Amino acid sequence: MPLPHALLFAGPKGVGKRETADELALRLLCESRPGPYETACGTCASCVMMASGSHPDYRLVQPEAAEEEGEGGESDKKKSKQIRIGQVRELEEFFHVGGHRGGARVCVIDPAEAMNPVVANSLLKILEEPSASFYFLIISHRWRNLLPTLLSRVRRVMFNPPAGRQAQEWLARNKVPDGAKWLDFFGNAPLAVADAAASGRLRKLDAIIADLLDPQEPLAQAARWEAHVKAEGGLAMEELVIAVQKWLHDLGQAATGAAPRYFPQQNKTLSALGQRLSLPLLLQAQRQVGQLRRWANHPLNPRLFLEDLCVRAFRPLGL
Ligand SMILES: [Zn+2]
Repeated sequence: MPLPHALLFAGPKGVGKRETADELALRLLCESRPGPYETACGTCASCVMMASGSHPDYRLVQPEAAEEEGEGGESDKKKSKQIRIGQVRELEEFFHVGGHRGGARVCVIDPAEAMNPVVANSLLKILEEPSASFYFLIISHRWRNLLPTLLSRVRRVMFNPPAGRQAQEWLARNKVPDGAKWLDFFGNAPLAVADAAASGRLRKLDAIIADLLDPQEPLAQAARWEAHVKAEGGLAMEELVIAVQKWLHDLGQAATGAAPRYFPQQNKTLSALGQRLSLPLLLQAQRQVGQLRRWANHPLNPRLFLEDLCVRAFRPLGL
């Protein structure tokens, strides 16, 4: 059966979607024509070009690091969250000009939700035109939010987190220190744990979670967290908000006598906190923090944003 020309790899972060797309791209481009159960040869001209990042028939479309004008005119080198329209226009050219090596051409898009509707629509125009040797491998961590018109033009392949044992074994094999204790927090996605460990974000998350398990006065708390967000290679604000959301979720579990989902090892501490909280205020806090998350990627003033977050999140505990 021939491979569909537009595949959507859908599922949570950190379960191997991008790794699979990269493997598949290598195989599609490999000029030794590997069989169905073989990997790319690694030695042909195409494999060598892929290894050096210079294959003319391969494109990776992802949010690019861009100079952004920060507040007060200072320029801020930040990774953009969006795929720009210009990137998809360049793809159009790539699509219409013939291939360089006479074989397959492959484009990886990571992730699809980084395209706003205008950008996604210009991609759709390309997807509508059939082309025998052209493959789109599209990644999505939130595929339910994609345009229905996009979903209808791709073959969706679901990626699910591995079983707990398998995930633990993978982390041990890849020598991720303390990896197993983070699996619940990361929804059993071992690659998400490994990525957070390698980037140093795990240590910062650890500090945030220690604070959440021993909550202090909200404004002082906000000041401490600001340092974690501002530090070089720091925690993204959204990641911090997600940690707070998970904590609020587990507080709700503890308050109603249910088992925590993200912090199972902290059951005792959470139950103690659960005893002193107001359930209606907790529900309100969960809603408000969910709303704050939408602004987490571009807060006007990070300090004020964190103060708002801490005040709202800690209110159910009477702080
Ligand atoms: Zn090869």
